[in-house]
Amino acid sequence: METTAAFDGLECTDCGERFDAESVTHDCPECGGICDPTYDYEEINLTRTDLEARPFDGQWRYEELLPIPRDAAVTMDEGTTPLIECPALADELDVGRVVIKDEGRNPTGSFKDRGHALAVSAAREHGASDIVLTSAGNAGQAAAAYAARAGLDSHVFVPSRANFVNKAMINVHGGDMTVVEGRFEDAAAACADAMEGEDWYSTSSFTTPYRHEGKKTMYYEIAEQLDWEVPDRIVYPTGGGVGLVGMHKGAKEFRDLGLTDDLPAMYAAQSSGCAPIVDAWNAGDATHETWDTPDTICGGIEIPDPGASPLILDALRESDGGAVATPDEDILDSAITVAQHEGVEMGATCAAAASGAWELAEQNEFESDDTVVLMNTATGNKEDDILRSHLMGKGI
Ligand SMILES: *Cc1c(COP(=O)(O)O)cnc(C)c1O
Ligand SMILES: [Zn+2]
Repeated sequence: METTAAFDGLECTDCGERFDAESVTHDCPECGGICDPTYDYEEINLTRTDLEARPFDGQWRYEELLPIPRDAAVTMDEGTTPLIECPALADELDVGRVVIKDEGRNPTGSFKDRGHALAVSAAREHGASDIVLTSAGNAGQAAAAYAARAGLDSHVFVPSRANFVNKAMINVHGGDMTVVEGRFEDAAAACADAMEGEDWYSTSSFTTPYRHEGKKTMYYEIAEQLDWEVPDRIVYPTGGGVGLVGMHKGAKEFRDLGLTDDLPAMYAAQSSGCAPIVDAWNAGDATHETWDTPDTICGGIEIPDPGASPLILDALRESDGGAVATPDEDILDSAITVAQHEGVEMGATCAAAASGAWELAEQNEFESDDTVVLMNTATGNKEDDILRSHLMGKGI
């Protein structure tokens, strides 16, 4: 496996055991816990000036803080997405500044590209011939695309309700797609069955250690785009929490390397139709309880049993953030408001972040001089049909 100089293998987030990344590729062999990439930070000498001198040309510009070097990466220049100023939203939320991190500008239209660029790079380094995952849709599309680029086969399990664009593009990339009647957990069960006896390399979130690792670069970029000013709040549409956990890790790394001097408060935004993280947060629990009847139109965050909930809840606590749930109706209204007041296209799933921010503002969670970042995790037109029918429901 070709690795970067400071990469120091994996550490289990549960039992703390350490492993070399060559022999251990997924969960902790001791306890089944989630493995996290580690680094020898003393070896990393990165300054603001170093980073500013580099072209803003994709997430691999932070290669020292990634396990695999750019040379060995399966990449389509994902990352370095714009941070869009939203003065009308700042007025409406009564805060100093609102910016939207527009992850819709990634190669397959979502931030899932960041995680899959790294996870598929790792798969190739580990000699995999096939990758496999369960996905609500966007991760499956990213997986099929990056597998195609790496010359690997992909096996993607999606629930029947996954959106049309995702299913179509998994086919277009040559992925082997199984559409499973039901919801995410049904697709996950079918995926586990199909993997029996196959030598497939999983890129399911938090099964591979590399998806949250790729997504942490979103935070690095935000810090740099804000001229090293740490944003006060980051609101993230939360399903499995991969991006939230990744960004919180990235924020601690930048702080510990002396590049920034604080941590942003992280907020998990969910739909009231599937809010296991918000429930656990409100109850003060360290882990979630499975949501019995998930029912939200926000498919990307309909994750009733997020296995990484202890990591998500830790990140919320450590960063002095929080969690918020809003109904689908409000979420869809927020997507329309953002589209009409700022022009930015937010899908239904992502708009949970906007809707959550409104709710947090109403709960007086924000200060009047705050900088609030809303994560637009995918391009709006992946869910254009949902937004358009919402208008029709209003007679428009
Ligand atoms: C996957 C996805 C999410 C949720 O991501 P997690 O890291 O699993 O919480 C949010 N928005 C969109 C558009 C997604 O595709
Ligand atoms: Zn362990």
